Amino acid sequence: MVYRSELDAALTEAAAAAGATVRDSTALTTLEQESRTVTVKTNRGDTLRARAVVGADGSAGRVARYVGVQCAQVDLALEAEVPVDERTADRWRGRVLMEWGPLPGSFGWVFPKGDVRTAGVVAARGNPTALRAYKEDFLTRQGLNGPRPLHDTGHLTRCRRPDSPLARGRVLVAGDAAALVDHWSREGISYALRSGDLAGHAAARLVTAADEAEETPTADHYGRQVDDVLGVEMRASGALMNLFARNPGLVHTALTRLPPAWRRLDAYIAGRTSVAGIMATPMARSATALATRLPRARESAPPAIRSTTEA
Ligand SMILES: Cc1cc2nc3c(=O)[nH]c(=O)nc-3n(C[C@H](O)[C@H](O)[C@H](O)COP(=O)(O)OP(=O)(O)OC[C@H]3O[C@@H](n4cnc5c(N)ncnc54)[C@H](O)[C@@H]3O)c2cc1C
Repeated sequence: MVYRSELDAALTEAAAAAGATVRDSTALTTLEQESRTVTVKTNRGDTLRARAVVGADGSAGRVARYVGVQCAQVDLALEAEVPVDERTADRWRGRVLMEWGPLPGSFGWVFPKGDVRTAGVVAARGNPTALRAYKEDFLTRQGLNGPRPLHDTGHLTRCRRPDSPLARGRVLVAGDAAALVDHWSREGISYALRSGDLAGHAAARLVTAADEAEETPTADHYGRQVDDVLGVEMRASGALMNLFARNPGLVHTALTRLPPAWRRLDAYIAGRTSVAGIMATPMARSATALATRLPRARESAPPAIRSTTEA
């Protein structure tokens, strides 16, 4: 569990210590490429010229539009950060809560962070009224609707199509800008960190590329590297999401009644395995095969599960 402000500040400091020039509160406004140069204009009136650009400007960023990123799944996530007293904070130490929601593929979460709890809900975009009602109900049931939230936000999360581009010429995309987000959990921080690392190395190779003939293979190589690791994870999470949206009761029963499945889920939440690790088990493969033969479940969502982790 981290506060994003602290994680982001630590990453920015690490980048600065490694030699990056940090320009805070500066937005890219336009981007164009000519010959072997990318020209970036900012809202502060600067014009920057680069041999390579990595767009990591999030899911609503401009670089994704420039590169032509295409999405297979768009969800709305609503989240509140609520202060809690010391007793509640102690009770929640080392625990997270996930609850399967009433809308297809939706869930709610409570993540404790010391004297604050982050709680939210996510579901497919397109039914904001139902999602807001679910959030209100969820926060009330968790006793989090009383205190005034420190933050109350809503954002879209986007998952790429497998064939969506990851580069256009010397411009690469990483993280949410590339729509690299887990279909099921909608987690994207680890995807952003890992694709950012790969994109940084690819950008360095683009800078030293001798000529245009070397550029295309470099961008292609970045796409393959992303696909080999993150694409595999996204395909597995897409399969789990299909299974979960079709038959949440089956997924819930497997996760809570079968100890190996529970241990995998716990390991996933604690960051020791990926959704691909869950879906690679013979049990998950059998469940996927079974679910495709079953009619779509109509029952209401199963109950919440708790995971005790070493978070
Ligand atoms: C409510 C909610 C809860 C979530 N919870 C989790 C979670 O618990 N765990 C998890 O792993 N993931 C979670 N995610 C997903 C996660 O937030 C993202 O996947 C992750 O932040 C992606 O990182 P990023 O650096 O690619 O993009 P972002 O974190 O969105 O960062 C993009 C940055 O680019 C900047 N920017 C935007 N436009 C421009 C521009 N034109 N010029 C310059 N800069 C620009 C933005 O200001 C921002 O600083 C959640 C998402 C939502 C919406």
